[in-house]
Amino acid sequence: PGRLQHKSALITGAASGIGLESAILFALEGANVLLVDINEKAVEEAASKIAKKTPNVKVLGTKADVGKEEDVKAAVDKAVAEFGRLDIMFNNAGIMHPADDNALNTEEKIWDLTMQVNLKGVWWGCKHAILAMRSNPIDESKGLRVGGSVINTASFVALMGAATPQLAYTASKGAVLAMTRELAMVHAREGIRFNSICPGPLKTPLLMDFLNTLEKRERRLVHLPMGRFGEAIEVAKGALFLRPETCAETLFMSVLVASDDSSYMTGTDFKVEGGLTSC
Ligand code: NAD
Repeated sequence: PGRLQHKSALITGAASGIGLESAILFALEGANVLLVDINEKAVEEAASKIAKKTPNVKVLGTKADVGKEEDVKAAVDKAVAEFGRLDIMFNNAGIMHPADDNALNTEEKIWDLTMQVNLKGVWWGCKHAILAMRSNPIDESKGLRVGGSVINTASFVALMGAATPQLAYTASKGAVLAMTRELAMVHAREGIRFNSICPGPLKTPLLMDFLNTLEKRERRLVHLPMGRFGEAIEVAKGALFLRPETCAETLFMSVLVASDDSSYMTGTDFKVEGGLTSC
């Protein structure tokens, strides 16, 4: 049986990169998945492709801009209406503006847009997930509510200075880490867990469009302990570890570190960054 059987997940930024790989992986592991993205055509196409490959689960796509609270709420409501409950909320959508590459020149409108999507989008995702997860039933055998697992995508840049500066982006991701810790404490007794994932530099459009010349990419590669960019699937597998129930168990960590699923994690917990922040 899949590791996510009988679970329902909502993933934002699911038309590309980490979100897309996670949607495929979660559906293959038995979860019903609602893919959410601002790119309507891409998210619908992605969802119908995954749905064809995973006939035993429901896979749907919907357009939402995580920078608008009403869109986030509507997406969560859709997941609950379609699947009956929400177990996993993966607040993953994020942007890195090409003009956010010079600290002194970052314009206020780019700062605001970055915060709107990367920080407020995650806040609203957490808020509406909490409201939905509060209705999940109590596990009678344990007398506990397995409320759910909320995963927020931060970044390695929240833990160290990056070779190419992205000021607003880095600030937004640092705030995601702090907010996630705070929410984890406040909602622990409700059985709703919050974890951040800090991906390292990945070969996805977000970073490759930012490092848009061979020279910029090579300059970044020199700093990577593994000498390569990570793949989105390697972060998706990190997110799978954070599923409800299992991740509370100590055994789980050793399974995680032993398996190929941790192929881009070294010397870290949920930092899926190829060791970058330890060097
Ligand atoms: P990606 O560009 O491949 O995918 C991002 C997706 O988010 C796209 O499909 C895009 O349409 C969607 N999106 C953008 N704005 C949105 C909005 N307002 N509402 C809904 N969807 C929106 O990027 P990725 O590399 O998979 O990035 C996913 C997350 O990982 C982001 O939060 C990013 O900051 C983070 N991250 C990426 C890297 C990297 O090197 N690629 C490193 C660390 C962290």
